[in-house]
Amino acid sequence: MDADVVIVGAGPAGLMLAGELCLAGVRPLVLERRPRLRETPKASGFNGQIVELLRYRGLLSQVEAASGRPVLTAPAAPFGGMHLDFSHLADSPIPVVHLPQPRLERLLAERARELGADIRRGYEVAGVSQDDATVAADVRGPDGPCRVTARYLAGCDGAHSKVRDTAGIPFPGTTYPEVNRLAQVTVPASVTRLGNGDLDVPGLGRIRAGFTRTDRGVFGFGSLTDGGLLMQTTEDEPAEVSDDAPMTLTEFQASIRRVLGADLPLGEVTRLSRYGFQARQAERYREGRILLAGDAAHQFPATGIGINVGMLDAVNLAWKLAAVIAGWAPPGLLDTYHRERHFAGARALLQTQAQVALRRGHDPAARALRELFTELLADEQPLRRLGALIGGTGIRYPMPGPSPHPLAGTFAPDLTLDAGQGTTSVADLMRPARPVLLDLAGRADLRETARDWQHRIDIRTARTGHRPADALLIRPDAHIAWAAASDEPAGTAAPALREALSRWFGTPRNAPPPAASRPS
Ligand SMILES: Cc1cc2nc3c(=O)[nH]c(=O)nc-3n(C[C@H](O)[C@H](O)[C@H](O)COP(=O)(O)OP(=O)(O)OC[C@H]3O[C@@H](n4cnc5c(N)ncnc54)[C@H](O)[C@@H]3O)c2cc1C
Repeated sequence: MDADVVIVGAGPAGLMLAGELCLAGVRPLVLERRPRLRETPKASGFNGQIVELLRYRGLLSQVEAASGRPVLTAPAAPFGGMHLDFSHLADSPIPVVHLPQPRLERLLAERARELGADIRRGYEVAGVSQDDATVAADVRGPDGPCRVTARYLAGCDGAHSKVRDTAGIPFPGTTYPEVNRLAQVTVPASVTRLGNGDLDVPGLGRIRAGFTRTDRGVFGFGSLTDGGLLMQTTEDEPAEVSDDAPMTLTEFQASIRRVLGADLPLGEVTRLSRYGFQARQAERYREGRILLAGDAAHQFPATGIGINVGMLDAVNLAWKLAAVIAGWAPPGLLDTYHRERHFAGARALLQTQAQVALRRGHDPAARALRELFTELLADEQPLRRLGALIGGTGIRYPMPGPSPHPLAGTFAPDLTLDAGQGTTSVADLMRPARPVLLDLAGRADLRETARDWQHRIDIRTARTGHRPADALLIRPDAHIAWAAASDEPAGTAAPALREALSRWFGTPRNAPPPAASRPS
């Protein structure tokens, strides 16, 4: 066996998985086909729940240093060719990090290496196979072909995943005929930038900041903090485009001409890219010893969310896989990875597919749909709800049991905690990625119940201003596994906690060994 876990692909999902596995005590082998770190920009940043998770892991300051800017709360967000305006809310529901993907990957790779991951570049996986005990990858490396074996293999090899295909996991969905072209540019002096952000273009007149819809497509632009502009065109083109084929300035200018009907003079160009849109989701995120995460598991027909969803897949998977490797995973734990993250991916598909319907069409019905949506989104509640859906912050994993506490399955809020010796927080507690029983109400009965699991979980007592529950059992991925209602009697709370601890963290320390070991 070459490794307990092999990760195929050193993109954001694979590298995050590598780091999280190391935190959980497993040192993975990462195989990446590119000989060097990615240089071409893909994502320019990311947003949503992963930003908070990175803060919980103590990584956000490094991310901000690499970005050169602090995390922003988005004053607006594009949604199906419309603009969601969060500026009148007291707080925006979407945290945003501006960090080009190559820099994110460098940071994640350095962290994973420091924690003990073995990252090999120039190794391309040609196919995978498995039996009851192992999984094997056929690899083309710098020294020729070889075979790598492991107990588990994670396919984090992107949208065209070889792992997914050779494992026989279907990837159903839809390819849309839209082509998006994106450029980071300046404009020459002949184009006037007006005080409200609009452009005054000779021969074209005034172009409003945001999206301009014509019969031939959509043109959009917005100001960047470095003074430049981010411009985008969207056109329907039946031909398949490759995300990897480089785009030229001539191609971008021709697209603008088609959409707007005239030339828009451009100055300096710092970035050009082109991408198509697909809505696809792997039927299964787990096939025996093979798991999928990131773009290998899902593709969304809107930008700006792929990194968030993919890295959160990795965070969800890592501790469960590590529990299996360590031998203490309760039955079915690894299958909850598919259940929870397929559900999260389906929620992301829901909102991105809705964006397709909103941005398509030029007939009166399509216009009415957009107008109605704009009207609804003037109200705070639907605006917040959509913001949470875009950022994946409202995900509540389905939890077992007849009536789980409303917090069970949600991402643990960052409560400020008074632990007797100064102030701490939920974020501080989650830094080592260990499960925590957080007693917020001096519940000795619950702490006593958890004592049999204290080799696997941390038990903490603290007070907090607005206590949301008497106690929270928080998993390493910061989702709440179980919560005790305020003043819940020990007669019901303690057995329920015991059940939750067994379900998520295995048998207690002094329990008799199971009669026959069952597969996870
Ligand atoms: C133009 C563009 C702009 C985007 N903008 C944003 C954005 O602003 N925000 C955002 O969140 N998302 C954005 N996305 C999406 C985002 O880039 C992806 O969701 C993200 O890269 C997925 O990460 P991943 O790790 O799952 O896969 P990838 O980043 O695709 O990484 C997969 C890795 O696996 C390697 N690999 C592939 N096959 C093999 C093999 N057989 N053997 C070994 N290694 C292999 C690849 O070389 C690659 O390094 C954008 C995408 C595009 C195309």
